[in-house]
Amino acid sequence: MNCVFCKIVNKEIPADIVYEDDNYLAFKDINPKAPIHILIIPKKHIESFHLIDDKEDLRLVEWLINVARRIVKELDLNGCQLHMNSGKDHWQEVMHIHLHLLSWWATPVKW
Ligand code: 5GP
Ligand code: ZN
Repeated sequence: MNCVFCKIVNKEIPADIVYEDDNYLAFKDINPKAPIHILIIPKKHIESFHLIDDKEDLRLVEWLINVARRIVKELDLNGCQLHMNSGKDHWQEVMHIHLHLLSWWATPVKW
């Protein structure tokens, strides 16, 4: 599949990975809009939030927020902004669902 995030999942292209488990991957955004900008994705290729019509896919996407919570704790951030673009008309450029986690907190030691 010609999907840049699937290629990151499959380690075909490099990324600065900050979290990984069986179902999820989180890595630094290549073009950060804040001092800390992480993308959290399900390893499964799911295109867009607004197109989800499968309960299992919905569960996977719901759990992205828990991965975000773990990263916030791990990096000891004092807060964050979470957002998800869904659909080309709504600023989604990479058509593999992803949750943006941004923080303007002073760069933590672990970063
Ligand atoms: P979107 O606009 O789809 O919500 O966000 C896509 C994000 O993916 C952008 O912030 C962009 O900088 C990031 N991005 C695009 N290609 C790559 C890549 O190859 N590696 C990484 N780490 N981030 C990418
Ligand atoms: Zn993909």
